[in-house]
Amino acid sequence: MNSSSRIFLRNKYYLFILVILSILWQTLFCLGSTNDSESLFRTEIIVCRDTDYQTNAYFYSSEQEGPTVMIMAGVHGDELAGIEAAKQFMENIKLERGTVIIIPEANKEAIDHRVRAISPEEDLNRNYPGDLTSEGIKRLAGEIFEILKNNEIDFLLDLHESVDYYNKNSSFYGQTIVLDDNENHFLNRIAGYLVNKLNSSVVSPEDMFDVIVKPIAGSSTYEALNHLEICGITFETCNKMDYKKRVDFHYQCIENVLAYFDVIN
Ligand SMILES: [Zn+2]
Repeated sequence: MNSSSRIFLRNKYYLFILVILSILWQTLFCLGSTNDSESLFRTEIIVCRDTDYQTNAYFYSSEQEGPTVMIMAGVHGDELAGIEAAKQFMENIKLERGTVIIIPEANKEAIDHRVRAISPEEDLNRNYPGDLTSEGIKRLAGEIFEILKNNEIDFLLDLHESVDYYNKNSSFYGQTIVLDDNENHFLNRIAGYLVNKLNSSVVSPEDMFDVIVKPIAGSSTYEALNHLEICGITFETCNKMDYKKRVDFHYQCIENVLAYFDVIN
């Protein structure tokens, strides 16, 4: 091989490396500029810091202004499907506009013990609006209520589960959307929308969702509506269904609520 062909081959080699580097650079650059997580502002606050109830509230804001929706799961520590769905949603989160606040493990102490509440008196969903000067569950309820109060929240979604189907045993709320007021047009409209969306893919009649009205003093949605005029729903799946199916219903519920407010597409 003469020296000119060696130079030619070496140049060809450098050219090849240059092309590869250029492709890599462009790929990285393109990914960076189209990655929506870059336009998503994320922050978090610690609730009940340095107590057994310590948990996180995550705030996700789009660059585009829009409504604020708050999602809670794990209010009862043995209702796991909503927690899983909220966490999965956080991993894939992509907002078109507005803000989503998520507390995926609201009652961390009860979740750690896999119980509804540490004691009947410490049922988080009977202790709102809570008390910031108190300890334990009342303080947890109070700190969560402060988040509701201070963030111009347009809607509250509280994810729960029940041990039986409402359509088989009306003492339990499995497969329902629970409202606190049957004369609230906005609540009726969004509940109707959700039920239609969710039931459109349901095959088994027992898995069909119903809208029910059960005002429960001390619950998040009841107190948010009555103290803060924030509309919200309690979403309940039945834990007689398999776990994956329940997680999927909760995930669908989150997506449908956020789509209703055009927070996601
Ligand atoms: Zn519950």
